Amino acid sequence: MAVKSVVIVGAGPSGLLLALLLAQLAPRIDITILDAAETLNESPRATHYGPPAIQLFRKAGILEEIRRDGYMPERICWRKLNGERLAGIDRSLLHDGGLDGDGLTVYWVGRLCALLERELKSRAGISVQWDSKVVALKSGVDSKDPTATIEVERANGENETHTADYIIGCDGGNSTIRRLMFGPRNFPGFSWDVQVMATNTLIDFDQFGWEDTQFVIDPTHWFMAARIGPHPDPKQNVWRISYGELPGLSNEELMARQEWKFEQMLPGNPKPDEYKLLNKSPYKVHQRCVEKMRVGRVLLAADAAHLCNPFGGLGLTGGIVDVGGLLQCFEGIHQGVADDSILDVYCATQRKKWHELINPISTANIRRLFQQDPDKAMEEDEYLQIIKKAEMDISLSRELQEAANELNYDYTQHYRTSPQVERAKL
Ligand SMILES: Cc1cc2nc3c(=O)[nH]c(=O)nc-3n(C[C@H](O)[C@H](O)[C@H](O)COP(=O)(O)OP(=O)(O)OC[C@H]3O[C@@H](n4cnc5c(N)ncnc54)[C@H](O)[C@@H]3O)c2cc1C
Repeated sequence: MAVKSVVIVGAGPSGLLLALLLAQLAPRIDITILDAAETLNESPRATHYGPPAIQLFRKAGILEEIRRDGYMPERICWRKLNGERLAGIDRSLLHDGGLDGDGLTVYWVGRLCALLERELKSRAGISVQWDSKVVALKSGVDSKDPTATIEVERANGENETHTADYIIGCDGGNSTIRRLMFGPRNFPGFSWDVQVMATNTLIDFDQFGWEDTQFVIDPTHWFMAARIGPHPDPKQNVWRISYGELPGLSNEELMARQEWKFEQMLPGNPKPDEYKLLNKSPYKVHQRCVEKMRVGRVLLAADAAHLCNPFGGLGLTGGIVDVGGLLQCFEGIHQGVADDSILDVYCATQRKKWHELINPISTANIRRLFQQDPDKAMEEDEYLQIIKKAEMDISLSRELQEAANELNYDYTQHYRTSPQVERAKL
């Protein structure tokens, strides 16, 4: 049976992208996006998107603008704190000429959300409602419920309800929908002791011969420095500098230590007048995944369902893979070639991808930075040895870079028949 209406909770990147993709389905689905905030979130978070996300941006019709205003980093390496280069990857191998390639692309998540919101405004049947905090799930978790209903608290203090065929929680790591589905503490996994400070900084690293991204291995001053805003003048390049911090420090303490940390760890030991800090934000980091991403007519996607640390850019890329999966499932239901049990396949498959790929890879990425002796890394770290080998072996390098496609899954294999065959019968 065709899907008539969907409520998406959360106007972050995953919720907005899902809305834009669902808006492509015919006949038109009524889509409402509800968000507790007053406007889009501007904090320094995702910047790097891997091939599965790029493929979905292309499907949504937004890749051209992302490639025009963002950029495709070429060289990524691992270094010691003294700057010594250990091993690296040349990503330009997947730059098959602008829009055709699926290569890693850098684009600030704030810009991505603004682009998605602008695109959504031009579509009929979609509304983004800000100042709308979901507070209760009234129905929908029982498989016999014909629809799902949530209660929303508006900024003016009034409550209202929204009913739809399906409700999809894209409401981030502190998801209310997840808490309403499973209780306040049921989010299996763990939180890292170490904390992460993320900054966007104008600084000249080119004078040290630094590449587009470096992961610096050190038990104390471990960090990532990635060019996220290239500029012809090296002093005007914006870099994302994300570094590890001690457990137990308050946000105020973390903020206060930033100038000292930069001076200790960055090449040239810069004082505050040698760079310009655009913004900084401390984060707790987690490895967590829900036991179910679907209960009745209520679903979860992206950070609401699973979290990982940010090293390696698997957080939102993994969330966007959920969005692509949901799109195929809803398309099948909508076209009458799948029943809604395909959403159970979504639940099982996306969780499996997190457990078998996202969690182990992202865990290894962060451990590599601070849980080994940098002087022994090339002898003991098998991953770095493979990266080193791939420097001289183009096919191995390509294979490593295309491995991200393993996150993808083709849900159309669960369709009874193809939408084209079904349409031809009418
Ligand atoms: C420092 C850092 C760097 C990162 N870098 C990368 C990267 O390079 N690549 C990558 O792939 N990932 C990266 N990530 C992860 C990425 O930023 C997240 O995975 C992504 O932002 C999650 O998007 P989302 O749409 O699921 O949730 P969010 O962006 O958190 O959006 C959730 C929305 O839900 C709304 N909401 C919350 N509660 C309610 C409620 N009760 N009612 C209504 N609305 C509600 C919020 O207001 C918010 O707008 C990084 C994360 C961090 C912290």
